[in-house]
Amino acid sequence: MNLNKSNIIIFLGPPGAGKGTLSKLFVDKLNWIQLSTGDILRENISNKTELGEKVDFIIKSGKLISDELIIQIVKDWLLKNLKDSSKVILDGFPRTENQAIELKKMLASSLKNTDLILIRLKISESVLVSRLLNRTICSNQECKAIYSLVQYKEPLCSLCSSKLTIRPDDELNAIKDRLKLYSQNENLILDIFKRSGIKIIDIDVEKPIQEIYKDLLIKLNIYDNNKK
Ligand code: AMP
Repeated sequence: MNLNKSNIIIFLGPPGAGKGTLSKLFVDKLNWIQLSTGDILRENISNKTELGEKVDFIIKSGKLISDELIIQIVKDWLLKNLKDSSKVILDGFPRTENQAIELKKMLASSLKNTDLILIRLKISESVLVSRLLNRTICSNQECKAIYSLVQYKEPLCSLCSSKLTIRPDDELNAIKDRLKLYSQNENLILDIFKRSGIKIIDIDVEKPIQEIYKDLLIKLNIYDNNKK
């Protein structure tokens, strides 16, 4: 990975694969910046903005927001936040063929000096369903720590003591819809990036998060033995 240029990493993986948790590690330990389209939408819902009211029901039912809306959100965010040698994680974008095509267009125009790496998170469906049914999230927008009820049964966040909540779309029917939608779109997205010669790294995410994080740093050639 060329650290002198701007870099964008896409975490491409189904809901529950650990995109949010891995992104948080990159942000906290490596000072990368994260664009989570899901977080932006949820913030809009809790702040009751016009956008929030528009997308609230769609998110709860496990469906996708329109490409038009999401592409505009991502474009605006990148224009505002991407500076020379920025390190950005895209968590939850692109999720459809059209979104991938739009990102490819951005890379050929406004993001010309940016290297894109796609990280494919590989995990079985049974592990995913159980993870999502047991997931709790810190309600503090500055923290957003993610826990599993299997290991952590407290009602408050161990980092900031805010209340832990369950996402309304982490409910069995919505989970099944989200996983089905994901697998329909994954190959289409991969094809677009394979054809453009984008580097794709596969990573097994059915192991403890610290091991996944280390594997990833090694594969990206940024593992530092002294820092861990
Ligand atoms: P996430 O937190 O990434 O799991 O996203 C939660 C929900 O936000 C998704 O189930 C979608 O309803 C919506 N969403 C997030 N990102 C996108 C996207 N790139 N395209 C369409 N809908 C999205």
